[in-house]
Amino acid sequence: MSRAYNFCAGPATLPESVLQQAREEMLDWRGTGMSVMEMSHRSDEFVEIAENAEQDLRELAGISDDYAVLFMQGGASSQFSAIPLNLLGDKSSADYVNTGIWSKKAIAEAKRFGDVQVVASAEASGFASIPDVADWQTNPDAAYLHYTPNETIGGLEFDFIPETGSVPLVADMSSTMLSRPMDFSRFGLIYAGAQKNIGPSGLVVVIVRKDLLGKARKEAPTMLNYQVIADNGSMYNTPATYSWYLAGLVFKWLKAQGGVEAMGRINERKARKLYDFIDTSDFYANPIEPRFRSWMNVPFTLADDALNGDFLKGADARGLLNLKGHRSVGGMRASIYNAMPEAGVDALIHYMAEFAKERG
Ligand code: PMP
Repeated sequence: MSRAYNFCAGPATLPESVLQQAREEMLDWRGTGMSVMEMSHRSDEFVEIAENAEQDLRELAGISDDYAVLFMQGGASSQFSAIPLNLLGDKSSADYVNTGIWSKKAIAEAKRFGDVQVVASAEASGFASIPDVADWQTNPDAAYLHYTPNETIGGLEFDFIPETGSVPLVADMSSTMLSRPMDFSRFGLIYAGAQKNIGPSGLVVVIVRKDLLGKARKEAPTMLNYQVIADNGSMYNTPATYSWYLAGLVFKWLKAQGGVEAMGRINERKARKLYDFIDTSDFYANPIEPRFRSWMNVPFTLADDALNGDFLKGADARGLLNLKGHRSVGGMRASIYNAMPEAGVDALIHYMAEFAKERG
């Protein structure tokens, strides 16, 4: 069986060598006579797996000891509530930037726990551009400012890190984590659901500046309390051990690729190829202002929506899978995370050109 090119937004394609290694280690992890899946999370072996994964992530992203790295559960969505519960503290409100569907979900959830100020919105541009920072109505006394560096559904990505002074910056990096170099010391907290650039779904990586710990509301569920999770090495309860192990394999793979600098160069090239092709064609279109086009998620439409079904059928037949756009926006979307080889993007462009020639 040959592997397809899977353009799913998440769970997304994983590096083939990682899957092969997991297969080789499946029944007997390094002479232990058991799978990682069957290991006690308190065993020396698993603790070593867990610590190595954290260390590799710290190296890849350049995370200092001022930050705690947490391997939590419940996906990125659980953090939509954990963040206000942990960080509002004695402040009366938090600032949020609305750039699309994932920002909106974070905003809606935060509103259940406190006063939320939407200080900027991309709505006026149809979520095709990031509002000018000079127009953001930020509050210097906000508990934090939350934004979504890459909107997975809209394909809108920040090409800069907002400056928030002493207000902690909080970012949902689910679909951009480790895709390019980034100065993580600018952030108070970042979080990323694993199923795009890190590993299997369910796991969520949270990186939080230690001085922000210890402010959780007393009614915050224990499992969402960062201080508790940090104090227990992300093992307050049974962690998602196998996902954690796979994340560790992905981090090793990333290091072998040359880390995030090398990945960033490849990702920029992959994205540019695809956008260049879309822009030169009069059959395909992408609505995002070029500067803010996502390197990871490339939505595009066909000149005639009536051809969408045929386009997808032809793509499937060529092993180009999961190109259907999100149900809320329609059209197509190609997610081209770290593990999508450049050859996959080439194959997609080749097919798109062929389809436009025949049907355009
Ligand atoms: N934030 C962003 C930017 C996402 O892309 C997603 C998932 N697609 C989520 C949050 C939600 O993640 P999860 O399903 O892990 O809760």
